[in-house]
Amino acid sequence: MLEIKNNLESVRQRIAASCSACGRDPAQVGLLAVSKTFGPEAVAQAYAAGQLAFGENYIQEAVEKIQALAHLPLQWHCIGPVQSNKTRLVAEHFDWVQSIDRLKIAERLSAQRPTARGPLQVCIQVNIDGGPSKSGVAAQEALALARAVAALPGLRLRGIMTIPEPAASAQATLAVHRRAEDLFEQLRSAGLDLDTLSMGMSADLEAAIQAGSTLVRVGSAIFGARAA
Ligand SMILES: *Cc1c(COP(=O)(O)O)cnc(C)c1O
Repeated sequence: MLEIKNNLESVRQRIAASCSACGRDPAQVGLLAVSKTFGPEAVAQAYAAGQLAFGENYIQEAVEKIQALAHLPLQWHCIGPVQSNKTRLVAEHFDWVQSIDRLKIAERLSAQRPTARGPLQVCIQVNIDGGPSKSGVAAQEALALARAVAALPGLRLRGIMTIPEPAASAQATLAVHRRAEDLFEQLRSAGLDLDTLSMGMSADLEAAIQAGSTLVRVGSAIFGARAA
């Protein structure tokens, strides 16, 4: 019970320390608590400790949690791969989707978003390090996809998300996050109205913040190790 509260406190302290080390305002770095594989009780404990935004990877598991916790004013982000047959569930239940890497998925979400829920907030997932995970659009294709997604009704494009592979050194980690920062600035210079650079997890949030992250996604440092 106390553990989640204490963990959240130390993550917030890490964020504050990173911000002060690079002269950023901590109010500009959001914290997404990644609750995948943990039950509604864990989410409710984090909420009791002041956390409102939660990230989930597995749609079915997430929808059950969202429904179980519907009485709480939580914000839910889909950060895992979205298959075509899951877009309706995502459009109906989530507030954000950070893992858009194909126009077809964005088009389905756009068509299926209930008007009453207001626009679904979305990010383009970019494979910034060319990692083997295969999810994420290549950096050279990000602008074209972002423009197409920004034009869809029912969606509001907010930025990009990256999930780089663990790098060999702190320097290499920072370099990859800097690449994402450059791409984010390029998209903004191209006229897209973006405010979200979602990068950094339990192991590398300091480097991500140094490179301009506006949203770190933290799972194990808050909820503990996940069962494989
Ligand atoms: C699991 C996951 C996280 C959190 O990872 P931790 O290392 O547990 O902090 C962040 N982002 C995505 C996309 C994830 O799948």
